[in-house]
Amino acid sequence: MNKHIAVLAGDGIGPEITEGAVLVLKKVAAAFGHTFSFEPLLMGGCAIDACGEPLPAHTVERCLASDAVLLGAVGGPKWDTLPGDRRPEKGLLGIRKAMGLYSNIRPARLWKALADASPLKSALVENGVEIIVVRELTGGIYFGKRGSYSDETMGETAWDTEQYSVREIERITRIACELARKRSGRVISVDKANVLETSRLWRRTVHAYAEAHFPDVTVTDMLVDNAAMQIVKNPAQFDVLLTSNMFGDILSDEAAQVTGSIGMLASSSLGDTTCGLYEPIHGSAPDIAGTDAANPIATILAAAMMLRDSFGMTKECAAVERAVEAVLAEGWRTADIMSAGMKQIGCREMARRIAEHVS
Ligand code: NAD
Repeated sequence: MNKHIAVLAGDGIGPEITEGAVLVLKKVAAAFGHTFSFEPLLMGGCAIDACGEPLPAHTVERCLASDAVLLGAVGGPKWDTLPGDRRPEKGLLGIRKAMGLYSNIRPARLWKALADASPLKSALVENGVEIIVVRELTGGIYFGKRGSYSDETMGETAWDTEQYSVREIERITRIACELARKRSGRVISVDKANVLETSRLWRRTVHAYAEAHFPDVTVTDMLVDNAAMQIVKNPAQFDVLLTSNMFGDILSDEAAQVTGSIGMLASSSLGDTTCGLYEPIHGSAPDIAGTDAANPIATILAAAMMLRDSFGMTKECAAVERAVEAVLAEGWRTADIMSAGMKQIGCREMARRIAEHVS
């Protein structure tokens, strides 16, 4: 297969970690007979420096023309004093909007070799944990009508509203069910249907859509308060977790914490086409930029998600994940995941070793 990948390296450790992911993707292409081309593009602080804006029109145009986008991270102290609409993060929101990405997928995976990194008791995580949070990204209470007023008896008062349409719920349900189909065939849908009207619509719509379009996928419901408890009580019961915007925001951070390390977690954002945006969940880590100390694994795992979710390359994705597992099992660690008895290496060496294991 021929695939064209836009690479937005960004700022701070962005160039180091995307270089590592590109190396691994090149090895995947060689091992599985594909041709991948890579197009470096500017976004974030580097784009502000080069052309005065965080998201140049050329970058948007080229991303839309690519098969998928790989992103490092943007931002840093150099641009912190710029006004809000000219800051590097504006580029991030802009590219998500331009690509119509309404779903955010964050797998929180605890690798067996890193079980010590979890704050949970080892008995709860000894068989590994992988919770894929599929979060609706462009609707719900974060985008609803809001306001504030002064009340004579209560004082200053503020309000936000949550709104969801069938169309919005259906499209995120499709993303979750498609993912589940490639995995366990199970989706747990989170809501607060005992209280909220939007949650009752959410629950009805998720079931109706899944039954009509994904009869092979089993959907069960879980109230959000129970979900928050179950993630720390029995994380192994989860596979794909489907949530609204706010519930997903909260539960994905909780699930990420169960796995212990920010340098290991990848995410993808998808819309109506297969052209998605793939990135680590961490930022540009200016404190370690340029020192070869960054952990490239989150970005390499984001590239693995790209292979599976944008290109349909399930075998290739599994090969990258196996390579990561193998390198960790051999005891190689970057500084952020280092522990007694392990062998510390830098960003470049970690990526090289993972690429070497891809077969
Ligand atoms: P951060 O995630 O960049 O760093 C937090 C801590 O984690 C730091 O100590 C850092 O060294 C460490 N860390 C992060 N990624 C690592 C990796 N791959 N390997 C090893 N250690 C790693 O968060 P921050 O310091 O709050 O933000 C720094 C900049 O990044 C800010 O400008 C912020 O706006 C930006 N940011 C960007 C994104 C993005 O591009 N998606 C996300 C979050 C923050």
